Amino acid sequence: MRSGIGYDSHRFAPGGPLRLGGVDIPGDVHLAGHSDGDAVAHAITDALLGAASAGDIGHMFADGDPANRGRNSIEMLHLAAERVRASGWRVANADVSVVTEQPRISDYRDAMRGALASALGIGVDDVSVKGKTNEGMGWIGRGEGLACIAVVTLTRG
Ligand code: MG
Repeated sequence: MRSGIGYDSHRFAPGGPLRLGGVDIPGDVHLAGHSDGDAVAHAITDALLGAASAGDIGHMFADGDPANRGRNSIEMLHLAAERVRASGWRVANADVSVVTEQPRISDYRDAMRGALASALGIGVDDVSVKGKTNEGMGWIGRGEGLACIAVVTLTRG
């Protein structure tokens, strides 16, 4: 059994919707990024690749590659899961915490779990999504962006 940790942060930019955990959340901001900015999917992808010692998301999906511009991060997560499975691992579970003042993650928790589970090829019960505020402190508290921390566990397939 192996575990990996992933972290990601993105800045809010004007204009919705906000793509997070594969879900389009209505509102007036989105996450700026080379891809679709989905920090939840990015943190889980890094945790997944980390658990398999298979590099990181920036190595697998280079920023400089035009094919990755505006790319659907759930599709990137799916491809990373395929790579990890091909090297003999089975995804056991994923857990992610989203640190943000807005939106309220619990309103979208089950939709995100469904999208992430399907990308990872595991059951919804094996995916956890949790929301935290930063108690108004620092750049997250000022609403400049959000951060995600994820853990993925693998077992030998
Ligand atoms: Mg990212």
